[in-house]
Amino acid sequence: MIPAEEVVTPAVVVRTRAFGESDKIVTFLTRDRGKVTGVAKGAQRSKRRFVNVLEPFTHVDVTLLLRPHRDLAFVNACVLRDAPIAIARDLVKFAYGSYVLELTDRMVREHEAGPETYELVRDAIALLELDDAEPGMLRAFELHLLRLTGYEPALDRCRRCGTAAGANIAMYVHPARGGVLCGRCRGDGRAYQASPPVLERLIAFQRAQFTAGAGDRFRLAPSMAAEARTLVRCFFAANLSAPLVSEKLLEALG
Ligand SMILES: [Zn+2]
Repeated sequence: MIPAEEVVTPAVVVRTRAFGESDKIVTFLTRDRGKVTGVAKGAQRSKRRFVNVLEPFTHVDVTLLLRPHRDLAFVNACVLRDAPIAIARDLVKFAYGSYVLELTDRMVREHEAGPETYELVRDAIALLELDDAEPGMLRAFELHLLRLTGYEPALDRCRRCGTAAGANIAMYVHPARGGVLCGRCRGDGRAYQASPPVLERLIAFQRAQFTAGAGDRFRLAPSMAAEARTLVRCFFAANLSAPLVSEKLLEALG
């Protein structure tokens, strides 16, 4: 029999819910073991053992007891690294952060995701703490999440013939083909034309490193925001059967 294994790893708390009278079920995105869901015994009652650490957005060092062939780990201990302050106080930042966590939760399967996905989510939350909530940041986050989950869209050249995207070249967005197609290759009418400046910004977002200090790389002119959102979002469509709860909040806030 494979023994249970105790791991200590940095992690971001993605989701938490009450379980029974006194426990909590908590989903973490860990650096070392990907997404892990565990039960924190007594977390609803004992304030001493898990003081304010099992809340979404917190960055922690968690001690998990991983049990072979069991879906749920045990959360043995959890120590706070950072708790978000701005996200807790600012509704727009809260909506952005909730979207980051919910989208990640939907796109990443249990026990999957490498350290880069953990870093991406950690840095997206850090960016929201430091900077204004910018739609461009969400688009950059989405593009990097698509890359890390194996769905990176090819936006910089035609998926079929390789023609490079450019200012004077019409490119058509084709989610089923995983990217854009040029005018000659686009075939039937299902693809729609991307405006070159929006495409250019999104390609720049894909190429830029997503780190906590990179907020100014992800600015997007207000006139581009709606198209950029639709364009990136269509590459998630096949993977998101039900709408995200946090999107409703984002939409309500405009
Ligand atoms: Zn082509």
